Amino acid sequence: MRTLLQPRTATTRHGATRRYRGWWLFLFVLTLFEESVVLAAVPLNGRTQHMVFSSAQLQAMAAASYDRKLQALARENLLDRDPALVERVRRIASGIIAQAILLKPEAAHWAWEFHVASDDTDAYCMAGGKILAGERFLRRFSDDELAGLLGHEIAHAIAEHVREELSAVTEMKPAYARLDLEDVVALLDSDLSVTLKLAPLSRLQELEADDIGIYLAARAGHDPRALLDFYRVLGRLDDSPDFFDSHGAPDQRLQAVENFTAYAEPLYQASRATPRPAAFVLH
Ligand SMILES: [Zn+2]
Repeated sequence: MRTLLQPRTATTRHGATRRYRGWWLFLFVLTLFEESVVLAAVPLNGRTQHMVFSSAQLQAMAAASYDRKLQALARENLLDRDPALVERVRRIASGIIAQAILLKPEAAHWAWEFHVASDDTDAYCMAGGKILAGERFLRRFSDDELAGLLGHEIAHAIAEHVREELSAVTEMKPAYARLDLEDVVALLDSDLSVTLKLAPLSRLQELEADDIGIYLAARAGHDPRALLDFYRVLGRLDDSPDFFDSHGAPDQRLQAVENFTAYAEPLYQASRATPRPAAFVLH
């Protein structure tokens, strides 16, 4: 945990009183803070996460935001316009979600949803399994490449990366510890210094989502090497800057993805030889 308050070291009697007061204040704030922190673990690699906000809080906020986005798209006639494309990608997502649930059983109770947007959306999966993918973005990729993309986005959700990121903000300063979730989101959107401090965690989360995503895709019967192709195709595009902004330049990721692909290859071969669980019924 980051330091909340440093006890002062004073040499006078008055200073000693201040020092004790400082300690009590330190312990008081620490107690307040510790009470609200729970430990979680990332599926697959077991990395420990410090969580301040609950899954339910994140999921409620995500569901409300997702509904607002769907309503706005529907009003503009930009929602699920091509049934064949929606069905094709929904089928791939269903297989990945079935594997995600094996890795994180509580996700079986999430209200998973999948829709296609015909605006400038690329792809994301919000807390609780709310997936939105962009029509133009999807059309560029094969089924296996899409499995890599969906695996990556679904991995962010089951690893609860946004919950961890927002929780990390509250650890930066004692004053942040009592902020509401919405206030933290606003802080993250408006304060560049907060974003910069979170950059190492964001990079770690991206690499983690690559690994977990390849694992999910391979177990769902998709060639794990397709994520490499996905990043290569992405690297050649000059009109998807949003994805690069939030995910980092693809060439920096290729080596890490290549290494994990070697691990996932036997999982892919095994998935082709054995029956897989029934695909999750996704709406
Ligand atoms: Zn990502």
